[in-house]
Formats: sequence, structure tokens, C-alpha cells
Amino acid sequence: HLDRIAEVDDHIHAFLHVDTEGALAAAKAVDEGLADGKAPASPLAGVPLALKDVLTTEGVPTTCGSKTLEGWLPPYDATVTRKLREAGVVILGKTNMDEFAMGSSTENSAYGPTHNPWDHARIPGGSGGGSSASIAAFEAAIAIGTDTGGSIRQPGSVTGTVGVKPTYGGVSRYGLVAFSSSLDQAGPCARTVLDAALLHEVIAGYDPRDSTSIDAPVPPVVAAARQGANGDLKGVKVGVVKEFGGDGYQPGVLRSFQAAVEQLRALGADVVEVSCPNFVYALPAYYLIAPSECSSNLARFDAMRYGLRVADDGSHSAEEVMSLTREKGFGPEVKRRIMLGTYALSSGYYDAYYGSAQKVRTLITRDFEAAFEQVDVLVSPTTPTTAFKIGERVDDPMAMYLADLCTIPSNLAGNAAMSVPSGLSDEDGLPVGLQIMAPALADDRLYRVGAAYE
Ligand code: GLN
Repeated sequence: HLDRIAEVDDHIHAFLHVDTEGALAAAKAVDEGLADGKAPASPLAGVPLALKDVLTTEGVPTTCGSKTLEGWLPPYDATVTRKLREAGVVILGKTNMDEFAMGSSTENSAYGPTHNPWDHARIPGGSGGGSSASIAAFEAAIAIGTDTGGSIRQPGSVTGTVGVKPTYGGVSRYGLVAFSSSLDQAGPCARTVLDAALLHEVIAGYDPRDSTSIDAPVPPVVAAARQGANGDLKGVKVGVVKEFGGDGYQPGVLRSFQAAVEQLRALGADVVEVSCPNFVYALPAYYLIAPSECSSNLARFDAMRYGLRVADDGSHSAEEVMSLTREKGFGPEVKRRIMLGTYALSSGYYDAYYGSAQKVRTLITRDFEAAFEQVDVLVSPTTPTTAFKIGERVDDPMAMYLADLCTIPSNLAGNAAMSVPSGLSDEDGLPVGLQIMAPALADDRLYRVGAAYE
């Protein structure tokens, strides 16, 4: 995999940092253990993985795609990182991402975009474009992403790979640099549903270091993926979300989705249409809640505690140093979010914006609850279009935001959701993804249906 990275990553730019020494040492430790007759620490021992650069790695650069954190070496491992190491997984390096995970194309990275392995002129999705591209380009076998509004599933969809957002609280956020704390969730990226399940079981589980971690058994996702592989969905009730489709969706994506629904039927699933009337308000609600939490979370980058510090020559006050550093360190999208969030939270506007968005969030959760009384899983296209061209949407934030129209409801409700490859669009020959959504703590349903479908 290191050779493969050396061969193709100049063209893909999936990695921000390749940890050759660390990877070889981890691989050697696994080999030595096996030579000593020890059982491997997990089914993934020795498997090379790419880690999104938003999860801390002790002594290894963690930039979150931002100039603000250039040169920062975290003093500790994220829980996800620690669990990977304990499982004998070989961490190859850190992957490119939109700055602080804000974006849908990886073009907001301060270190330049990642290219889609299917067509280098196109985006690999975002914010975790580097993680999904690295596995699509066979630079890594598996990868870790994080999903606040779609950043694991949408890159999975446009790179033809599997991406899973576990139930909120299912995977620890300790050491996941916060963007929007009530939405952020780390999860697996893989080329098959079973690979994703094996990785899911390695990283999931209760962590007392994360106050929102759920103290419940990890759903049996590996068993579910193995069960699904027999291709039998008899007795499984699938709901097609009525509100997703129509204007703004590429006809090729909708045709692929129709074919996917027919295939689920052919596998024995009972397919019905379900209405979730409040899902159409998910995007506007998200773009108040996520920036609000971001404006608060990113206040910690004050030029004193981490990374970049400019104008530190004694001629400026501490406040000036903070403000000049933030001006230089943050890119335009991050600044836009901080301003939006600060405004939405300000006195006099709080109830109208943030308060209303929180109420919409409750209505969306209720839509899911009502739907899951009728069906086991919901399905939709993962994203309305296939990979768009690099540069095409950079000047149009609204067009960029629409990429996550179908993925955001599951984040707002804290539910589990997966994107599984659904073939190539008959319009442009690019990968399309099928989104499967399940209730909180029913992640195993995604794996059963996903494995049957893939
Ligand atoms: N594209 C969405 C945003 O820009 C979601 C990002 C994410 O899931 N991290 O906020």
C-alpha cells in the first residue's frame, strides 16, 4: 500500500501525511506476534487503513485540513485511533478533508483538493474525500471518516465505495476535533459491506471519555453483514422516502435508485412508499445548528493553545494576535460558518433561528419514529448527483450544500445510515450510491440490507 501511495497519490492527493515509519512498525509488530504464535488482536490485524485528519494521533500531524493546525502534534490519541492500534490495524497516514469537515467536495482543504479516482477532474465528495478516495484508488484497504451531515456517505457514493454513519453515540468522539458536537460521528469507509462491519466493530463501543457515548452493546453488525450476504431479504420492510426525488436530482441517479428498489424487491423485501414531510426542512435546520455549534467549538483556536500564531513579535496585543491569527488561519467557508453561527446565536435572533431549527430537528426525529413503526429501514439516493467537476460549485455555497439533502436527516435524528454502491449512472458512467437508513442502535439492519444488495 505504501508503494501504491507513492505511485498514485501525486494524482489523487488523498493523503496529507503518510506515516511510513509508524505503519511499518505497526505491521512488524503484527508479524512478530504471529511468528510468536499469538492470536491476532482482531480480524483486521495487519490491515492498512487511512485515517481522516480530524482524529488525533499522538505525535503525528493532525491538521483538520486547516492552516490553523499546521505543525500541531497532538499529545494524545483519539479513542478511535487507540482502538485501531489495539486491534493491530496499520495506520498508513492521515487523509485530506474540507477544513474542519465543512464542505462536500474536499475543495475547502487548505492543502488543495483531492481528486476522484474515477475521473481526476472531479471531486471525491467531502468532507472526507481523502478517506473514500484512498480506498477507491486502492491506496488503503479501509478508512475512517466522520459524518456531521453526510461526510462519510456522500464521498462513499461518488467514489463507488461503502460509507457508514453509525448511530450517534455509537463511536466515541474523544479526540475527534469538534465541528458540530451534537452531529459529528466517526465511521467506517470500505470497499465491501463486510469490511465496513469488521471496522465498525473495532471502533464502536461505550467510552466514558465522551459524555454522549451510549452505554449499550455494539449492534451485531458483522453477523448482520454475513446474514445479508445470503441475499435473502424476505420479511424485511423497506420504505422509500417520498420526499426525496424530482427537481435537482440527475435523471441517471433516479433511474439507478429505481433499479435498486426493484432489486430489493427481487431479494424478497417488502417495499412501500413512506412520507417524511419534515425532511425537506432538514437542510435549512442543519445550516443553522451546525454553524452555531461550529462558532462555539472553533473559539478554541485562539492562537494561544494550538498550532498557528502570527504577529507574535511583541508589538501586538494578545487580542490582536488572536484576531490576526484567525484571519490568516481560517479559510473562507470556515469564516462563513462562524459568522452564520454567531449571528444565529446572538441575542434577539436566538429563538428565531437556532430555537426554530431545534424544533424542526424534533419534527424530523418524529418523522423517523413514525416511519420506523411501519418499516425496518428507509432508502433514498445518497446524493442528488454524481461527482461534479472540481471548481464547479466553489463559488456557490448553496449548490454545494445541496449535496447533503438526503443525508442530513439521519444526523439530525442521531440515527444510523449507510451508503452502498449502486452501480454506475447510465448518464455519465460515474458511481451512484444507495442510502439505507435505520433507527438509532439498529445499525445491524443497514449491514444486513447493504450486504444483500451489494
Ligand atoms: N457538507 C456538510 C457540511 O458542509 C456536511 C459535512 C460533514 O458531514 N462533515 O457541513
